[in-house]
Amino acid sequence: MKICRFTSRKNSLQRYGLVEDSSLRPLINPYPFEGEINPGDEILSLNEIKLLAPVQPSKIVCVGRNYMEHAAELGNALPEQPLLFLKAPSALIGHEEAIKLPIESSQVEHEGELAVVIGRAASRLSDAEDPMAFVFGYTCLNDVTARDLQRKDVQFTRAKSFDTFCPVGPYIETELNPEDLAVITRVNGQIKQSASTYAMAFSVKFLIKYISHAMTLFPGDLIATGTPAGVSKLHAGDIVEVEIEGIGVLKNPVLEV
Ligand code: MG
Repeated sequence: MKICRFTSRKNSLQRYGLVEDSSLRPLINPYPFEGEINPGDEILSLNEIKLLAPVQPSKIVCVGRNYMEHAAELGNALPEQPLLFLKAPSALIGHEEAIKLPIESSQVEHEGELAVVIGRAASRLSDAEDPMAFVFGYTCLNDVTARDLQRKDVQFTRAKSFDTFCPVGPYIETELNPEDLAVITRVNGQIKQSASTYAMAFSVKFLIKYISHAMTLFPGDLIATGTPAGVSKLHAGDIVEVEIEGIGVLKNPVLEV
């Protein structure tokens, strides 16, 4: 199932919906994470709604250097254990919203990534618990990064968390095997990044359990699983797309602030 978050012209409430071809059915339950996904009788056309970032996470946990060729292109080795950092939830934007280039940086880059959406609270998962049972679904995420500030600052926080630096969407796909999905990032239609999630150093399953031993993951939390090689600088006027097999295309224009 494809789940989105949206507002409509007639109703400014932020709601979740079940996407079916070119239409959607708003869910009766306010959040899709608990209980059954229960769409009502109302049917809306995708033309009459505005898609929002599909979740409102308490945190966005990111994994750095999870693809060998990307670690190498920035002069790094693969880490021996996952390299974790956080991205501010205030950086979230949805499909077709603009990434705004901040004046503080002269090197803002795209990082197309598979994102895991958590469905059930996960804390210190035991060997008997299957990490995949805590997944709600998967979506596309662009871990936009001010590369110059990432190198300059000791911590990644500022470089990763400017407002609009976390496009997510367009939908959450709830039925997907994350082990071998094509992840492609295009700028102005030209392919910049192309890889399979098969090449990840640490799998989704491993990452969920590992992160749960540091912090409780809550429904709606996002795990950005790292980017393949091919990151490049974004310019005002660019259109950047992150496409993941089985999910769809997350498209965002780039503007000066
Ligand atoms: Mg990243």
